[in-house]
Amino acid sequence: MANFEQIFASNVFSDSVMKKRLSPATYEKLHKVIAEGGELDIAVANEIAKAMKEWAMENGATHYTHWFQPMTGVAAEKHDSFLSVQSDGTVLSEFSGKKLIKGEPDASSFPSGGLRSTFEARGYTAWDPTSYVFLKANTLCIPTVFCSYSGQVLDKKTPLLRSLAALSNEAVKLLHLLGKTDVTHVYASVGAEQEYFLIDKEKASKRRDLLYTGRTLFGAKPPKTQELDDHYFGSLRPEVKRFMAELDEELWRLGIYATTEHNEAAPSQHELAPIYTEANRATDQNQLTMEMMRNVADRLGLQCLLHEKPFAHINGSGKHNNWSLSTNTGENLFKPGRDPYNNTQFLLFLAAVIKAVDTYQDLLRISVASPSNDHRLGAAEAPPAIVSIYLGDELSAVLDAIVRGKRFNQAARVQMEIGVESVPEFAKDTSDRNRTSPFAFTGNKFEFRMLGSSQSIADPNMVLNTIMAEALSEFSARLARTGKDREALARRIVRETLQKHGRIIFNGNNYSAEWVQEAEARGLCHYPTAADAIVHFGDEKNIGLFERHHIFTETEIHSRTEIMLENYFKVVKIEAQTMLSMARCEILPAVYRFESDICELIARKKTAGLPDGHEKIIADRVAKGADGLYLAANTLDTAIAGCDAPRDAREAAEYIRDFVLPAMHDVRAFADALETNVGHEYWPFPTYGELLLH
Ligand code: ADP
Ligand code: MG
Repeated sequence: MANFEQIFASNVFSDSVMKKRLSPATYEKLHKVIAEGGELDIAVANEIAKAMKEWAMENGATHYTHWFQPMTGVAAEKHDSFLSVQSDGTVLSEFSGKKLIKGEPDASSFPSGGLRSTFEARGYTAWDPTSYVFLKANTLCIPTVFCSYSGQVLDKKTPLLRSLAALSNEAVKLLHLLGKTDVTHVYASVGAEQEYFLIDKEKASKRRDLLYTGRTLFGAKPPKTQELDDHYFGSLRPEVKRFMAELDEELWRLGIYATTEHNEAAPSQHELAPIYTEANRATDQNQLTMEMMRNVADRLGLQCLLHEKPFAHINGSGKHNNWSLSTNTGENLFKPGRDPYNNTQFLLFLAAVIKAVDTYQDLLRISVASPSNDHRLGAAEAPPAIVSIYLGDELSAVLDAIVRGKRFNQAARVQMEIGVESVPEFAKDTSDRNRTSPFAFTGNKFEFRMLGSSQSIADPNMVLNTIMAEALSEFSARLARTGKDREALARRIVRETLQKHGRIIFNGNNYSAEWVQEAEARGLCHYPTAADAIVHFGDEKNIGLFERHHIFTETEIHSRTEIMLENYFKVVKIEAQTMLSMARCEILPAVYRFESDICELIARKKTAGLPDGHEKIIADRVAKGADGLYLAANTLDTAIAGCDAPRDAREAAEYIRDFVLPAMHDVRAFADALETNVGHEYWPFPTYGELLLH
């Protein structure tokens, strides 16, 4: 293994590289823009561009790209060469401040939800200096935001950056009111734990469903999957070990420090957790991590599946978004300290989270809504589609005392056996595990666990930051009205918030059927599918929220709704078409081959004068299954044909949810039953057992 210290962040134009390669004045100016926002003048940009180019070329780069995150959720890049040929045939390397700051990719093929018709295909990318420039293969990658010619947002990054600014402003305002006037900035930190599957590439390539949709559309349950729990934290297979070692190295070079890598519950499933960092960088890092996972796997003859539900019958993959807030003075605002009951500032920030999550449950749900995540949420392997907060017993007891106006009895805390009262950091006590909660307080951070494994973490964090900014701004407005005894008023705000929004707190088992009923009785929002959820993005209260904090205009919200609904429709349609073709052109022919061989056997037995045997029963069973599959495929075909009827985005999504998905379900049921009745060597593609356990 390579020397960690030598390679860590060696492919990043990091703070220390900047310090070394920029003049002190330029470094200072850039640093100021990174910390406080603002613009860089062109002379400064030119110096930075020159330093970047030199650093990149010394490290083998020949090209640069504005790296951006369009609404597809997959990072986009268009490579340009540093080198240009002059009229006299000489070659010059150039990269100016202008090219660093602004790019103009042809944007017509990125989704815009009607914001930008193709005849005005111009889009701009603009350098985001708050995330580090990095090297990937032979290319200098410059993190950028992406907008249309008329300035409308076309990416996931711009809203995230806006939300971070809104959150910082509101948090600073509140802290000033509480007397912390030395705070000038509040940062959101994020650590995104990433789940994934690793399977053999050769076998995967034999399945069109994996090829076209990233998940299996067929597959009977093998006799053994995860019931023995022998995979979870089990020892790693050699090829997986190699994958992890190579991935680590790639990520370290990019300044991403992956800490824990272990097996997950399902066979062939694993998890990677990076060390948390500032939210904007964490978002870029997660994108890069997903990309590197795919690349490294490919190199080693493996395929990395990031889909939320690559296989039925076993757990799917998600992402845990660990989120916390800290000040420029180094204070974690979610740290309860030893005496949370008397820590008014902590309680106020905690109350703000409770208020934010309760008021905007729908937005959090929407921020993780996708057709692929629908297979997980509510499937007793991932949190349900209902948002609630887990605080743990002890913190709940503190809040309970506040609501009842009683004192919280610190002395009632754990006595250790040796007879010494143990008052460890409160954080340690509350970080009890409730793996079923969608939004859990884990000591000094919140862990939002509804995210799908393949999605960008930009949207959920944008929502978290914005709803938090809103709650904090409401608290500040109340506190600002009084000059005296803010402490008492702050505690009143906490109490009132808990009384009003306490329904969102749930410490029990989120997988239970009773919880769904109880949550509905509590009036919590329950959108079982992405199609149900997405249409509420543009609800009036949400438009108000986003406009107040300058995240989106109403038009942008509608365009995003449209993009999400279209994506839902397209993804399901591709799956349905893939399924139909596999059923008709692969599975049925295989079944016929098997059936015909049996019939031939029956005929031969007859010729030989042997009596009828069980073969007829088998032939009959298989023939009936094939009939069923044939008819189900026809129904699916009709449902797919119905997709072409003129409908708006919402109706199209609802149509595909209500007619195509159920038809797909039937096709699968017949095909999976056939799989267990047809000879193995007849089956046209690798089975679950072969993919997962071999
Ligand atoms: P687990 O969830 O398995 O208990 P940890 O508590 O160690 O794991 O952390 C999980 C993830 O949370 C890691 O990516 C870690 O970097 C991140 N994390 C830890 N502390 C914070 C924090 N204060 N803010 C944001 N993320 C954090
Ligand atoms: Mg976790």
